[in-house]
Amino acid sequence: MSDVRVRFAPSPTGFFHIGSARTALFNWLYARHTGGTFVLRIEDTDKQRNSDEFLEVIYSSLRWLGLDWDEGPQAGGDQGPYRQSERHDIYQEYINRLQDADRLYEKDGAQWFRISGEPQVIEDAIRGRVERTEEKDFVVVRSDGSPVFHLVNVVDDITMGITHVIRGEDHLSNTSKHTELFKALGAPLPTFAHIPLILSQQGSGKMSKRDQGALVGEYQERGYLPEAVVNFLCLLGWNPKDDREKMPLGDVIALFDFSGINQSNARFDERKMAHMNMSYLLEMPPADYLAKARDFFARNEDLKARMARAGDNYFADVIAISQPKVKAIDELPDYTIYFFADEFPWNPKAVKKTFKKGEPLARLAELKDRLSAMVDLQDETAVEEAIKSMAEQNGNGFGDYQAVARLAVSGTNAGPGLTQIFRVLGKDRVIARFEQFLAHPPAVDA
Ligand code: GLU
Repeated sequence: MSDVRVRFAPSPTGFFHIGSARTALFNWLYARHTGGTFVLRIEDTDKQRNSDEFLEVIYSSLRWLGLDWDEGPQAGGDQGPYRQSERHDIYQEYINRLQDADRLYEKDGAQWFRISGEPQVIEDAIRGRVERTEEKDFVVVRSDGSPVFHLVNVVDDITMGITHVIRGEDHLSNTSKHTELFKALGAPLPTFAHIPLILSQQGSGKMSKRDQGALVGEYQERGYLPEAVVNFLCLLGWNPKDDREKMPLGDVIALFDFSGINQSNARFDERKMAHMNMSYLLEMPPADYLAKARDFFARNEDLKARMARAGDNYFADVIAISQPKVKAIDELPDYTIYFFADEFPWNPKAVKKTFKKGEPLARLAELKDRLSAMVDLQDETAVEEAIKSMAEQNGNGFGDYQAVARLAVSGTNAGPGLTQIFRVLGKDRVIARFEQFLAHPPAVDA
C-alpha cells in the first residue's frame, strides 16, 4: 500500500460518457500502478441537475468497466461521507476557517473569497509548469448558503487526503482558483495531472455527451466486452511507448505512468473501438462467447424465444461458427437469422450477383442431387470433396455451386463457411431449401 490517494469526482447530471469513463480509468490505473487508493466522490451539490438515476448509472458503469473503488459510496471508508450532499458540516467548518483567516467578505448576500493575487504556479505532471494569476475575488458561498464547486472540490481534496488530482484539461483553468483556496486553508497542494481532451470523431471540438457513441451505456447494451472498451479507453491519451494497442490490463497497470500520457488531444474513433471489440471477441474462448451470446439473446423477448425454440446444442453450433465472423455481439441476431427460420430475407445484391452469369439454377439442381446421395452432411471435408469432384466432372468450378447454394440456404452471399452452414442446418433442411429455391427462385431486379 502506498500513500497515493486519487479520486474520481463525477457529478450525476447526465448519463455516463466516454470522457468520464476515461478520467475514472486513468485515476484507477494510477492507483493500481502505485498501490494507492482510488476514491469515488460524488459531486452532487447542484440539486436541480442531479438525479438518482444518473447516480445509479455511474455506479453500474464503473462496475461494468471493472473500475472498483476502494473508498466511496457503497464501499465505505473513514474519510467520508463521500457524497457532497452529505458533507454540509465539513464545508461549514472550512468556511469558518476562511472567515477566521479574514479571507471572506459579504457582498450582495454572497460570501466572496479574497484572493492573494499572487501568481499561481503548478508543476503539472502532464503539462509541466503552468502559471496563472487570479485577478478577481470570487464567490465561494452563494446567497442561498450553498458553497460553490471550487470550494467544495478543494475542501474535499484536503479532507480526503488526495495526493494527485487527475482530471480533464477543461479544469486546468480552474486550478489557480483552487490553489488560492488550498493556500488560504493552509493545506499543501496535491500534484495536478491534467489529461488531454477527447475530440469528437467529426469536428475539431471537444467530444460532448451528445456525440454519437458518447455514452458508455450504449456499448454495454450492444454487448460490447468491457475489457475491449477499457483497452480502447486506455489509448485515449496514453500509450505504452511501443506500438501495442491490444494489451492485457495487467500490462497497462504495470506500465501506466504520467510520462506515457500525451499532451496533445486524443480523437475518439468509434470504428477503432469496434475493431478493438472484435479482436477481443475473436480471441474469446468459445464457451465464454456462447455465454455472452446467450445473455444478449435473453435480454429481448423475441430473441429469447428464438433461442429457446432452437435448443441448446443447435444454438451453440450456430454461435460457434459465427464467432469468427461478426464484429459485435449485437450483430448476431441478424447474422444468424436463417438458422432459426425457413423464411428469411433475400439480399438483393447477392441475388443479382448470383444470377448475373452462368446457370445457377442448373448448378443448384446438380448439387441437390449430389448432396441427396450422401447419408448426411456432418463431415465437412467429405462434403467439400464431393462438391469439388462433381464440379470437376461437370467441367465447372467450385464457385459456380457455392454462390447459389449459399444464396438458397441463407439468402445472402456472406456468412460462415458453406460446409459449416450445411452441417449445422442438417441435410433435410438444406435439401428442402434447395427445392424451395428451385421451385420459387427470388426475383432478380433489373
Ligand atoms: N465534478 C467535476 C467534474 O465532473 C470534477 C472536477 C475535478 O475532478 O476536480 O468535472
